[in-house]
Amino acid sequence: MPETPSDLDVSTEEWRPIPGFEGYYEASRIGRVRSLSRVVTRTNHSSMALKGRILKPHIRKNNGYYVVGLSRNGKPRNYYVHRLVLMAFRGLPEPGQEGCHENDIRTDNRLENLRWDTHLENVHDAIKRDRLVSIGYYNRDKTECDRGHPFDEENTLIRPEGRGCKKCRRLMERERYHAAKAKQGIPSRAYKPLLVDTEVA
Ligand SMILES: [Zn+2]
Repeated sequence: MPETPSDLDVSTEEWRPIPGFEGYYEASRIGRVRSLSRVVTRTNHSSMALKGRILKPHIRKNNGYYVVGLSRNGKPRNYYVHRLVLMAFRGLPEPGQEGCHENDIRTDNRLENLRWDTHLENVHDAIKRDRLVSIGYYNRDKTECDRGHPFDEENTLIRPEGRGCKKCRRLMERERYHAAKAKQGIPSRAYKPLLVDTEVA
């Protein structure tokens, strides 16, 4: 969200109810969240008018995303602003989808910068854009795996958590296959653990 949206942004700002918070909170196309004016009844049956306002988001320290506190039935909880904007304008995510920022700026919660997508797509985007540091890109600085196989285009496995070695995976699968057969007493090609060569006797 821009820290101070332009007058034009504000005058044309479109608000929509946040699913699950209808009548209480709305999110806007430029990434703001507001509470709606309403009358609440307290436990002693007196009523109190609450004036709607634009909520001030806070940056969550461990990941840099904006969060706002929303309460329903008096229990405030923090919610990611980008998810609220997506829910209001695009509906709820499919299982496994997460809120992604097109330009990778986690505080830019304009709708046009957001989409629901799978974690894997989000990570592939990260790889494409060479912005790997922030997501803990495993093995990113290595040119070869621990067993000396090259991390070249052909041999590199892209996984959500980072890079893996295709050769090592094949070896490991083979080893598991033959180990399982040997365990069942099924005649198999001479089973020889293939990964022991990395162990130092
Ligand atoms: Zn390897």
